[in-house]
Amino acid sequence: MADLSGSVCLNHPDTPAVTRCANCSKPICKQCIVSRNGSNYCSETCAKNAAETVGQVNRTLEERRRTGAKTRLRAIMLLIIIVIIAAAASWYYKQNKSDVDRLMRETGTKIEKNVQETKATIQQGVPTSSQYKRNREAMVE
Ligand SMILES: [Zn+2]
Ligand SMILES: [Zn+2]
Repeated sequence: MADLSGSVCLNHPDTPAVTRCANCSKPICKQCIVSRNGSNYCSETCAKNAAETVGQVNRTLEERRRTGAKTRLRAIMLLIIIVIIAAAASWYYKQNKSDVDRLMRETGTKIEKNVQETKATIQQGVPTSSQYKRNREAMVE
């Protein structure tokens, strides 16, 4: 409690103050106390202003709490979605492991076949060009 020694009520200069207004801190006597929600005020005006301030603070806190909850909820939802996607991908791979592996093998075989065909073409091409070269040489001679 604030030090009230020597303080007098602002409304009654002859009466010692017993407390201060919870809103404006004015020293007040027993007679002037306006009690609201367990707090003492110097007037109805102060009680009303304090109530409005408390209401505003509560609204702000409530809003902040709601926003925080929304942000947390969004983070949790995102986490759940990521987990679901990861689980689905893992499940899909497990379910289709043989298919995926077969596809990989087939692709590998195709590439191998292409390489061999290309090699064969090149090898066939060499004697052809040699033949061509020999013909040209024969024509020149
Ligand atoms: Zn007051
Ligand atoms: Zn008074």
